[in-house]
This record gives sequence, structure tokens and C-alpha cells, in this order.
Amino acid sequence: MKPAKIKLADLARHRLARHREERSDVATYPKPTMHTDPNCIFCKIVAGKIPSKKVYEDEEIFAFHDINPWAPVHFLIIPKAHILSMAHVEPEHEALLGRILLLAPRLALEQGARPYPEGGFRIVTNTGAEGGQEVHHLHFHVMGGPRPWLRG
Ligand code: 5GP
Ligand code: ZN
Repeated sequence: MKPAKIKLADLARHRLARHREERSDVATYPKPTMHTDPNCIFCKIVAGKIPSKKVYEDEEIFAFHDINPWAPVHFLIIPKAHILSMAHVEPEHEALLGRILLLAPRLALEQGARPYPEGGFRIVTNTGAEGGQEVHHLHFHVMGGPRPWLRG
């Protein structure tokens, strides 16, 4: 019986040491969630330094009309944090991305898209040069309204 107890105690000590290592890792890397870039056009829109037609705002999300709409309804939903693109999302952004996608249908209807299935909307996120991304701050285009559209 005694050797078994010693092994369990060793295991517990080992687990505690691992736990402390993990905790110190977490403490080493600050979360980049509210990073902003003063040279980024969408960060400037969030900060109110460039005017926009606001559709929605909360603590971590901003939505505004696209300046060059392709469709009768065309707005952009962005995280306030300066995340470069969909190629840069991390597990820590999981809830944020979920909230953006849950918001899109509600805002699309509020902005004039007709209900599914006759109406509907399109969500587009261009990523990188070959993905057609021009503004390097993550954004979700939400487009809708009667066709034909200019693009898309
Ligand atoms: P991307 O090509 O990166 O997917 O889309 C960028 C979008 O941002 C384009 O549809 C463009 O019209 C829009 N956009 C660029 N600059 C501004 C701006 O200053 N204000 C607004 N409201 N939209 C912008
Ligand atoms: Zn930005």
C-alpha cells in the first residue's frame, strides 16, 4: 500500500508543477483582444476619427454602411479590435466571431433585407490579396435587397 501512496503523491506534485508552468505561460503573453492600429482606416472609423453611417455598436463590435455599396443593403460588421483578417483569428476570438455571425441576420433585416427565403442576404469576408481583401482589418460584408446588384 505505501509505495502506491508515494506514487500518487508524486503524481499530484507533478500535476501541480505542470499547472504552475501553464499559468506562468498565460501570464507571459498578454491578450491582444483590444489592439488598435492608429493608421488603420477601420480603427479610425471605430474611434470616430473618420465619419461613417453607423448601423450598430457594442463593446467589441461596430457595424456601418459600406461607402461604395454593391447592393441596396450593404454594410460591414467589424470587431473593434484590430484583427488583420480571417487568417489571423485565434481560439480567443471564438465568441466574438459567433456574436458577429449571430448579429448579421438581425441587422440585415433591420437595414431592409427581406426575410428568408424570398429575400435573404449574403455574408462575404475577403481574406488576403488573392481573396480580394483591400482593407486589412477583419470585416464581414452583409449584402441584401432586391436584385440586380452592382456586384456579387
Ligand atoms: P474588402 O475589399 O477589403 O473586402 O472591402 C473593403 C470595403 O470597405 C469596400 O467595400 C469599401 O467600399 C469599404 N470602405 C473602404 N473605405 C471605407 C470608408 O472610409 N468608409 C466606409 N464606410 N467604407 C469603406
Ligand atoms: Zn484596424
